Parts: sequence; structure tokens; C-alpha cells
Amino acid sequence: MSVHKSKSYPNPATALVVGAGFGGIASALRLRRLGYEVTLLDNNPKLGGRAQVYEDGPFKFDAGPTVITAPFLFDELFALYGKKRSDYVELMRVEPWYRFEFADGEKLDYGGGLEDTIAEINRLSPGEGKGYEKLVLFSKRIFRVGFEKLADQPFHQFGIMLRQVPALIALKSYLSVYSLVGKFLKDDRLRRAFSIHPLLVGGNPLNTTSIYCLIHYLERKWGVWFPRGGTGAMVESLGRLMEESGVNVRLGVQVDKVLVDSGKATGVCLNGGGEEKADLVVFDADPPKVYRDLVEEKHRKKWTNRRINRLSYSMGLFVWYFGTSRSYPEVQHHTILMGDTFAELLKEIYDQKVLSDDLSLYLHRPAATDPSMAPEGCDAFYVLAPVPNKRAKVDWKEAGEKIRVQVQAQLEGTLLPGLGECLESSFFVTPDDFQKRFNTHLGSGFSIAPIFRQSAWFRFHNRSEELENLYFCGAGTHPGAGVPGVLSSAKIVEKLVPPPRSLDPDSDFEVFRSKSKTFSLASFLLPRKRMQAIAQLYFICRTLDDWADDGGGDHLKKAFDSWRSHTPHPLLDQYRFLQTHWGIASEPMTELLEAMDGEQEQVRFKTEEELIKYSHGVAGTIGWMTSPILGVTDAKALKHAIDLGIAMQLTNIARDIFEDAERGRIYLPAEYLKSPITPKELTEKGHAGRLDEVLAAKGRLLDLAEVYYLSGESGMSYLPLRMRIVIRWAASMYRSIGLLIKEKPSHFERERAVVGWVKKAVMFPRCFLLSLFPWLSK
Ligand SMILES: Cc1cc2nc3c(=O)[nH]c(=O)nc-3n(C[C@H](O)[C@H](O)[C@H](O)COP(=O)(O)OP(=O)(O)OC[C@H]3O[C@@H](n4cnc5c(N)ncnc54)[C@H](O)[C@@H]3O)c2cc1C
Repeated sequence: MSVHKSKSYPNPATALVVGAGFGGIASALRLRRLGYEVTLLDNNPKLGGRAQVYEDGPFKFDAGPTVITAPFLFDELFALYGKKRSDYVELMRVEPWYRFEFADGEKLDYGGGLEDTIAEINRLSPGEGKGYEKLVLFSKRIFRVGFEKLADQPFHQFGIMLRQVPALIALKSYLSVYSLVGKFLKDDRLRRAFSIHPLLVGGNPLNTTSIYCLIHYLERKWGVWFPRGGTGAMVESLGRLMEESGVNVRLGVQVDKVLVDSGKATGVCLNGGGEEKADLVVFDADPPKVYRDLVEEKHRKKWTNRRINRLSYSMGLFVWYFGTSRSYPEVQHHTILMGDTFAELLKEIYDQKVLSDDLSLYLHRPAATDPSMAPEGCDAFYVLAPVPNKRAKVDWKEAGEKIRVQVQAQLEGTLLPGLGECLESSFFVTPDDFQKRFNTHLGSGFSIAPIFRQSAWFRFHNRSEELENLYFCGAGTHPGAGVPGVLSSAKIVEKLVPPPRSLDPDSDFEVFRSKSKTFSLASFLLPRKRMQAIAQLYFICRTLDDWADDGGGDHLKKAFDSWRSHTPHPLLDQYRFLQTHWGIASEPMTELLEAMDGEQEQVRFKTEEELIKYSHGVAGTIGWMTSPILGVTDAKALKHAIDLGIAMQLTNIARDIFEDAERGRIYLPAEYLKSPITPKELTEKGHAGRLDEVLAAKGRLLDLAEVYYLSGESGMSYLPLRMRIVIRWAASMYRSIGLLIKEKPSHFERERAVVGWVKKAVMFPRCFLLSLFPWLSK
């Protein structure tokens, strides 16, 4: 095998992420893992955005998110770097998930197993448990589409939206959450309780699309969690991960303007003066604010100031943080105090934009799950009330304290008797603070509202429609607010950005064409994107193979080290990029590198089993990597893809016995021969008198390859038609090399068997017909 000249790589691309909320942190980690040099900027002195920690004397308060659902999204971030989230931060189960306290004095504990919730519902409203069960089943259907299929997929093309319309109609997404819940539950207290989920992402249950009912199932599937040490401990652990992985973090830095050159974002201007240039800029900030205030209007066609003003914004939040000198052990971790009114309150917040006298409250008491969240003998809380955003004419300097007093009275009369006498720490935030501290438009708690006409394609796109190299993650973009939403938005950004080092597809393709005539010929039938990905994958594997073959051991070792330590590497970053785009697993690359590393030692196999293991490592893995690019989704197909790779490798070995021996390598298993053979014997004419023995071994190898080709053949049905034709053709061309050798074994003793173009072309119609009409082969 001849070596191609290794490509020289330009410097890694640079990325600026503005905003260190969960979305920004996740984006920074994901881009870094793709190989970008990443700088994360935030105007606040601490990481976390809305999830930062406020401190007051001995009291610490998580400022924002407290209900952690879909914890796997955090686990994934650590796994990107081969780490375990549990080694950094522990997640504790919360039970019950919530306690609802109704205005009539009744309670409902929600959480635990389905049976527990049904029993609670039946206690409150006999016979309604059945309706709840149906609601959960319906929310599972919504979850399958809304979360599993769409939450981490880009929605930047209208076609993607159109394709989802039938499913969205079938799932009744035209109904509001409250209307959908009302179809399953009759008791108004239950209807209200099970409609609150939109409030968690800034929406009005009366007009938020029922797609958000998926949160019911999200909670059922993964439960509700709380990090030991608070949400701040999760932020801190991600901070450590960023430090370890080389993300450059700069806090207390306000970005004032996006730099633009010829329609491209080229960096940002900082408030303290100075510029930061970068190849791409990702904002985890409120998109309406970014467009309005940081991108000059002359650069905007779609997101004009007028359009931004016309959008509907999520509610504002009043949050009172307080510590007490005594403990309230009977209060649950998450309590929702439902006011007397529901529709009226929501109207006041969203439509009339006035402050209500009858507030519904969410009370957070983290010490219920983790006693360390309050000083000994004390307690720490926050209480949150949805209020109108700053479109309402409220003077928060005055209204803030008024509401605090109102809330204190409400809590004193219900859950926290004697509160006034034991307050040790007390401060609050209002929409004014959200506007100033987090740069949100209108001080909204969750960016634009999650209504249907502002969701998916209609929401701010993750890749800017206005400027090249500008991206968005976080609450204002698809899929939306809430921790799972913003973590998913970072996955979308990762899918949309270009590879960090400007790739040279022509050079990848050149290597592909010149080194793999068979495959590159067949792959001309593939759609362009898939063909490029295959060429890129081929380039990566071929480069590694060359390093393994021709003394590039040091290169190979460095690559393997970087793969094991999850640090950037010019070649493997390209593989990581393909992984993001095509969902290729990490295991085949690990196995490929292990197998190639093993090749650095003298290659000698005693048994056929050892040979197969090796072939699995260096070639079966390539079938494995290629499958997702070819559109194979069925896990059962994997074995056949791997077997086809093994078959081709066995053919290669049989064809290249002479060339390999010249490099001191023998792949024939010793058990195929009467006694061990040396490379010198193999390179001599007539194999030093052992011609018959070697030819018989070669024949055995090719028979073995046949067994694997047959398995590969039975996997063809898993491939989409077009790919089936390509792979069948490529496999046939390879297989015919073996047949050629078998026909004239002594002719190919030292000469390389090559199948001519005409023969290759003749095979095509047969492969085409067999792929179209598989029964023809029977
Ligand atoms: C009180 C509260 C309770 C919540 N509870 C929950 C919950 O229990 N569960 C849940 O899942 N979700 C909850 N949420 C929602 C969730 O917290 C948010 O949707 C999510 O954390 C937002 O993350 P983000 O990535 O969009 O960024 P944010 O957290 O909004 O952070 C963005 C950061 O960017 C910074 N920034 C903006 N502009 C600039 C600029 N020009 N220059 C520099 N920096 C800038 C901001 O200051 C901020 O620090 C809650 C939210 C709040 C407010």
C-alpha cells in the first residue's frame, strides 16, 4: 500500500460564545470537542446565567433552575470528554416531584411511580386516575415526536417544518396545553395543576401549544433531580470540565456589538473597549436583544426592530430569596401554591399586563432534598411569582417591595407560619433585574413566548438568517427555554457549524479517488453530501492506515493519545465532526486505533480467530462507521456491515500477500500452513518451494472471505435502495478480485490482481437489478 502525502492543516478555527448560561456552556464544550479554540464571554461575574448562585452571608441561593429533568443531557457533556458526570456532581432524586397546594386547602403530591400519582389523583377526585393515565399515554406520543425526533434537530429550513405538519396535527398541537389536559381531566384543580408546565418555560397554559405536554412524559421517563450542592454545583462542575478541556472563560465582559464584514460576523466589540475576532460567534443571549441592540439594522432583513417589537414575550418573574433562622421540615422541595383564580391571573399577566392580587407561587426549599443547602438549624428558600414583563407599565422600584410583602403574607398564612419573625436574609429580583443583569428584552424571564407561531421554524433560528458565521443557542431559539431545551439547542449548534479547520473536500476526494478506485467509482451514485462524508471518512482512515503502515508510528501514537484523552487533534477532529453530523459511534474509532496500534508490533497470527479479530478492528470498524452515513438505522444491520468490512479485508490480505511480506508483514494465520513461514520465503519466487502450501492457504482465506460476503449480502436489505446499489456494486467488484485469484492462483503469486474497468462496468446492471428485485437472486 503506497502512502499519500499527509495534508498540512491550517490553524484551528476560533469560536466566541457569548453568554455563559447552560446553553452557552454546552455550546462551548461541544465546539471545543469539535476542535475549535473557544472563548466563552459573559457580562456577569459568575458562570451559569440564570442558573448562577446568589450569596448572602451564610445563605446560598440557586438563582434560577431548580427542577432538573432529562439528566442524560448533562451526562452527554461529560461523556464528550470521556468523563462521568457522577465523578463531578451527584444528582439526587426529588420526591415528590411537586406538591400542589390548592386554594381550598387540599394538597396533591405529584411524582414517584405512575401508581402513586394515580392514587393521589383518585384521592382528590375519585375516578380521575384513568384520565391521567390517558394523558400520560398521549404525552408519550407527543414526546416521541417533540422531544426524541425534533428537540435537537435544526429547524432552519421551512421544508423541515412542513414535513412535521401531519404529525403535529395528529398530536393536536393546535390545542393549548390547558385544552388538551381538559380532554383527559374534569376536576378544575387537576386541570390547572397538570397545565402548569408551560409556565416553566415562560408560556401561558391557555395559549401555549400542547406540544409542551411532552414535559409530562419527560418527567415520567427520567424523573426529577437535584444536584447535591444545588444547581450551582452543576454549573461549577461544568466550569471544571471547561477548564480541563481548554475552553477559555472570560467573565464580567459585556459584548456591545457584533462586528460584520461582507455579510459575515467576524467577532464582537467589548464594552470596556477592544474587539475579539473569531471565525464564528455563538450567542447564548436573548436573540431579540442581540439583533436589536448588537447588530446594526442595515445588516438585518428579517429581524427588523419592528418585527422584534411585534413578537410575543414570555412573562416576567418576581423572585424573592430568603433565609430563615429556623427550619420548616414539613415543606417539600418544590411546592406550587395555586391561587384562587387561574384564567384570570394568566389574563392579568399576559394580556392586561397588570399585577394581580391573587398570585400563584412556586416555593423552592432545597434543604428538603439536600440539608447542606441551608446553614444548620436554618432554612433557605426562593419563591417565584409570574408577573407581567416590562411591556406592562409597572414601576418595579415600588412594586417589588409591595409584592414581597404580599407574598410574605401569603406564605405566612399557609406554609411558613411565623416567617416574619425568623427572616435572616432577604432580597428579590424583578423584571428590571432580568433586563439589566441578563440583557433580556423587556425583562422577560424566558425570552420570546413558546406559542405555536413562535416555535420551531418560526422561532429564532440557531443559524442566523441575517449573517454568516452567526449562531444562536439558549432559551430564545429552537427548541426553547428550560434546561433540557437550552442543552438541546447547543447540540443543534454543533450540527450546524462548519468543521473547525477549513476542510479541503477536493483533496479528500482526490485521495479517495486515487487510493480506492472501487469505492470511489461506486460512490458516484451517492447523494453529494453522503459522498463527501464517505470521502472524508476514507481520508481519515487512510491517513491513519498510512501512519500505521509506514513508520508514521509517532503520528499514530499522538492520534491515539489524543483520542483517549479527548483532546483536539487535527485529523480526529474531522472524525468528531462526522460523528456529530451522522451519528457515528466512538467505539469503532477506538477499535480501529487499537488494531492499528497493535500493527506497530510484528504482525503474526497463529489462528484464523486472531486474523478475524484483527480484520474486525481495521476493516469491520469501517463498515460500522460507514453505516450511519449510508442511512442505516436498524441496529441489526450492524453485524452485516462489519462482516462486509471483514470480507473485504480478507480479500485485500489474499491479494497483497507479496507486497505485505516485502514490508515484513504476514497476515496468513500460521495454522493455515504446515510450519511458520518467513517474509523472506514469501517474497522469493515460488515462495521458496512452498508455493502449493501458500496457494492453498490463500484459497482458504478467500473461502473464508466468501462466508463474510454472504453475511454482508444478507445485510443489503437494511440499506436504502440507492445505497444498496452502491454497496452491492462495490462488494461485487471486491469479491471479483478474490474470484480472479482463485481462477489463476499461480498467476497472482507475485502480481497484484486487478479487475478491469469493463468488467466493473458490466457488473453494474446486475447489481442494479438485484437491488431493485432482490427475489431475482433466489
Ligand atoms: C427563576 C427561574 C427558574 C427557573 N426554573 C427552571 C427549572 O426549574 N427547570 C428548568 O429546566 N428551567 C428553569 N428555568 C429556565 C432556565 O433556567 C432557562 O431557560 C435557562 O437556564 C436559560 O439558559 P440560557 O442558555 O438560555 O442562558 P441564560 O441563563 O439566559 O444565560 C445567558 C447569559 O448571557 C449573558 N449575556 C447576555 N447578553 C450578553 C452580552 N451582550 N454580553 C455578555 N453576556 C451577555 C447573560 O447575562 C447571561 O448570563 C428557570 C428560569 C428562571 C429565571
